[in-house]
Amino acid sequence: MKPLVLVVEDEAALGTLLRYNLERDGFRVAEARDGEEALIVAAERKPDLVLLDWMLPLLSGIEVCRRLRRLPTARNMPIIMLTARGEEGDKIRGLNSGADDYVTKPFSPSELMARVRAVMRRSRPGAEAEVLRCDDVLMDLAGHRVKRNGRDIHLGPTEFRLLRYLLEHPGRVFSREQLLDAVWGADVYVEPRTVDVHIRRLRRALNGDDERDPIRTVRSAGYALDPPVAA
Ligand code: CA
Repeated sequence: MKPLVLVVEDEAALGTLLRYNLERDGFRVAEARDGEEALIVAAERKPDLVLLDWMLPLLSGIEVCRRLRRLPTARNMPIIMLTARGEEGDKIRGLNSGADDYVTKPFSPSELMARVRAVMRRSRPGAEAEVLRCDDVLMDLAGHRVKRNGRDIHLGPTEFRLLRYLLEHPGRVFSREQLLDAVWGADVYVEPRTVDVHIRRLRRALNGDDERDPIRTVRSAGYALDPPVAA
């Protein structure tokens, strides 16, 4: 079953954007438009995570957070506060009220999704979304399938694990040794050059004509999987 995220947001446009990004990344979404509805939906649906706006009608996000923490069923429910306020004092108030993390508006959807996955991983290992994505490359973990731009990508088991690891850490540069430890295992002895061979195969499988190569070679350092640079 896909994890359920409760989005508590009174701005309809932002609610729609959050739903779109969450569903695209393999989550189910429930919505509430004000603080009181948030408490009702949280009690009924028992979401795996709550995205909670600070400025809400009827009850503020902070008050919703405090009340959720008093409910036995919601005491350990991960909560990420969303807010336009950027002041340190507000951040501390938010975290003191029981929020697990705090994201300041405006935020990029990819930053928010990374925080959602991180909080989910900390609170419930195994309840993660079953889809990993970087730009037009999508990995369905449950179905063990990879797609780019909607077309099926066929990968060998090593390329699949390599791509999975890179998708889990977009933008980060890994040395060949780090990739060997993560993908092949620290006890297996494999030549670091082997990584180059598998990266080459992965690129060949992923990149169609005229497509951007998402894998960046960093000279004398290693490799990274990059989302496109915003224009
Ligand atoms: Ca609001």
